[in-house]
Amino acid sequence: MDPSRDDNRPSAIVQQYWAIYPRFLQDLFVQAFVAGAHHPGQRVTEGQWIKAMDRLRDGMVTCRGCGATGFWDLAEPDRTCRACGTSLAPPYVLKIGRRTVAVSPLATLRTDHLASGVDDSVVVGQVRAHPQDATRWGLHNLSTRPWEATYGAGQVVRLEPDRTMEISDGMRIAVDSATVLATRWQGA
Ligand SMILES: [Zn+2]
Repeated sequence: MDPSRDDNRPSAIVQQYWAIYPRFLQDLFVQAFVAGAHHPGQRVTEGQWIKAMDRLRDGMVTCRGCGATGFWDLAEPDRTCRACGTSLAPPYVLKIGRRTVAVSPLATLRTDHLASGVDDSVVVGQVRAHPQDATRWGLHNLSTRPWEATYGAGQVVRLEPDRTMEISDGMRIAVDSATVLATRWQGA
C-alpha cells in the first residue's frame, strides 16, 4: 500500500485490516514495499520484522467493550477499538528490559521476554483476569521455578510454580535473571 499513490489500493477488507495495526507496523510495511521496492538497501531486515512482531504481540489486547482483539502500543497510547471505539489502554503494563507487555487476558510472559536471541520461545507466565472483579489482574507462574515478587511497599513474596499472584502498581518480579516491573497505566 503506497500512501502516495491511490491507483493500486488493496481490496477494502485489506484496508480495514490495515487500520487495525499500530503505526510502527504500517511504517515498516511502507518502508519494505514502497521505499524498499526500488531500493534494496532500504528493505526491512529479518531482525527488524522479528522485533516488530514481538512488539505487536506485546500490545495485543482484548477490547473491554466488545471483546474484539486489538493492538495497543506505547507510541500510540490512545488507540481505540476499531469495532466499538472503547479505549484499548491496558490496566497495567509489564516492563521487561526494553519490552512492554500490555496486561490483558491475551498477555503471556515468554522466554523471549527474559533474554534476547531466543528462537524457540516458551510461555512461562500467563496474565489472568479476576473471575469477579474486572479491575483486578493476576500473573500465573507456568514455569517450573519459583519467582520472587517485591511489592511497591517492599514486602517480598515467593510465587511458586502453578500459583497466581495479584498484579499491583510498582511490583517487581524476579523471573530467572530478568526483572518484570508492573506499572498501572493511566485511564484504566
Ligand atoms: Zn471493542
